[in-house]
Amino acid sequence: MLRSRLAPTPSGYLHLGNAFSFVLTWLLVRKQHGHLHLRIDDLDRERAKPEYYDDIFTTLAWLGLDYDSGAHSRQDCLANWSQKHRLTAYKAALMRLVDAGDVFVCDCSRSLLAQTAPNGLYPGTCRSKNLPLASTDAAWRVRTDGNTSVNFHDARAGSVTTDIATNLGDFIVRRRDGVPAYHIASLVDDTHDQMTFIVRGADLLASTAAQIFLAERLTFTAFTRTTFLHHPLLLESPDRKLSKSHHSLSLRAMRENGTTAEEVIGRIASMLGIVLPRPSLQALLEVFSPEVVAALPHEGLLSM
Ligand SMILES: [Zn+2]
Repeated sequence: MLRSRLAPTPSGYLHLGNAFSFVLTWLLVRKQHGHLHLRIDDLDRERAKPEYYDDIFTTLAWLGLDYDSGAHSRQDCLANWSQKHRLTAYKAALMRLVDAGDVFVCDCSRSLLAQTAPNGLYPGTCRSKNLPLASTDAAWRVRTDGNTSVNFHDARAGSVTTDIATNLGDFIVRRRDGVPAYHIASLVDDTHDQMTFIVRGADLLASTAAQIFLAERLTFTAFTRTTFLHHPLLLESPDRKLSKSHHSLSLRAMRENGTTAEEVIGRIASMLGIVLPRPSLQALLEVFSPEVVAALPHEGLLSM
């Protein structure tokens, strides 16, 4: 059975781009009689705010998006589903990387990195320093040497091959504050939840490659066989990406301004190239076909 998830982060109000991603995922799962899970990516405890958790549940209910497992309220999430309950599993994955010799400790300061890695590609400064794992205020990075080519299947692009060393370098798997990096948490959860299909924005292509690279090292074989769909991002104008800070496109602001869920569904349908005389989620599900995704423009979708 196809298994997929919605994975919002409670670090801001959801916007039209999130709605597009959620509706597309929901349509693809429901059309193929799959299982849809709600996972809330709340590992970053400092950025997670009560009002952002609440906004996730309000938005899903407003749009009419149901799901088969996962939290149904902020209280339920914090008590039963939060990623804070999964720290042991993330740490176990990190220790497997350590035991295999794939991790090194990096104490480069932000200002040093700005000088040594102006393009964001870590130059390997601490690779052979052998700093102790217990170093405080130091990040853990994964060693990317030898063969670092990874391959995955994308539902739109087909077979995608990318080289980690040249595109990402020795990326961080544990942050300076000791918190496991997003790549580790997301990979461990998707493996635990037995996901077979992951829908995410094209801005996460590099994340997918990093997670495949880690999955191979951790022998999370099922994850390496996951089908991905990297959908085009929403554009504010032909040359500008929709940003989270653009308040007028937050779904909360839209609700307050009297925009209806049907109007949002109508906009999303037209971005998918579907014209609905009377937009509703059910009407969209009836006419939607998974083949629609192949026709989405590569460069982005105009949200206006
Ligand atoms: Zn370093």
